[in-house]
Amino acid sequence: MNALVKKWPPEPPGGPTELSVVIPMYNEHEVIPAMYERITTVLARLNAPYELVLVDDGSRDGTPNVIKALAEKDKAITAVFLSRNFGKEAALTAGLAHAAGAAVVIMDADLQDPPELIPQMMQEWKKGADVVCMRRRSRRGESWFKRRSAHHFYRLLNAISDVEIPPDTGDFRLLSRKAVYALQQLNERNRYMKGLFAWIGLPTAIIEYDRLPRVAGVTKWDYLSLFNLAFQGITSFSVAPLRVATAGGVITAFLGLLFALWIVAKALVLGDPVQGYPSLIAMITILGGVQLLSIGLVGEYVGKTYSETKQRPVYIVRDVMRHGRAAGENAG
Ligand code: UDP
Ligand code: MG
Repeated sequence: MNALVKKWPPEPPGGPTELSVVIPMYNEHEVIPAMYERITTVLARLNAPYELVLVDDGSRDGTPNVIKALAEKDKAITAVFLSRNFGKEAALTAGLAHAAGAAVVIMDADLQDPPELIPQMMQEWKKGADVVCMRRRSRRGESWFKRRSAHHFYRLLNAISDVEIPPDTGDFRLLSRKAVYALQQLNERNRYMKGLFAWIGLPTAIIEYDRLPRVAGVTKWDYLSLFNLAFQGITSFSVAPLRVATAGGVITAFLGLLFALWIVAKALVLGDPVQGYPSLIAMITILGGVQLLSIGLVGEYVGKTYSETKQRPVYIVRDVMRHGRAAGENAG
């Protein structure tokens, strides 16, 4: 499947509609009913044809059944069931591929992103924005550490990468069909969505909002997976760490040279016998550490190249339901 040869404008998969709301879900059965109520109330007031794209990211609880029951009742639901848990980024990609809307809103299932803002986002879109980012004015219900680390992470990422990623914007955003199409042309496997969103450019509007605590259920991110996501983000959008390794090598080599000169000078001038066991061990350990770290970094990028060259699909679809019944497609 080569995205580059797709028709322009590409045919949306389920026939056109005005608005799609894409929601990735992993073990969210507790929040689905409340979420469904609130979103439908908002969408019904829009007076425009809409669809809800619910992506089940291989949940292990009742999520698929809840989604299925909803999709049988409500023809506005497009349900996409992935074959296993592929992660939020892949689930989003799947949702975008199945969304038919001229505008597509992405949001979390846990109502941390208030659906009541959708009409405002649509307004910005109608005024000509292809991407409407939602910037968090506050993040209630999140720990101090998570807020601080997120803040510093975005600062760092922006400092070292070529694309400008607006700080404090999550995945909650609206994309025009053009933006969705642009995203689909980035067919890399390591999908750091926030970076991809920023990479495509296009006219962008920003709306500020207050991020609320989760309505029910628990967060799917622990600090380790957040760290991994951050690391993914950096290595996907910047080769600066490699340069740090190079710079570190140059600096240590230079210091080593100075040290060597000093030892020689000391021996010649003062006739000092060389007594370097502790300094030798220290140097070896330091250099060994720097070397291993650099090799690890290079390995990280090589590994990335490896997983990209395999050209595996980003996700596998188990089932799709559209207009109240199974759509009988299985494309990844
Ligand atoms: N999610 C997903 N697949 C995963 C992990 C999370 O589809 O492997 C979804 C999850 O169901 C939710 C959204 O991504 O709709 C955000 O997850 P969560 O609320 O746990 O993250 P947080 O808001 O705490 O950053
Ligand atoms: Mg959340």
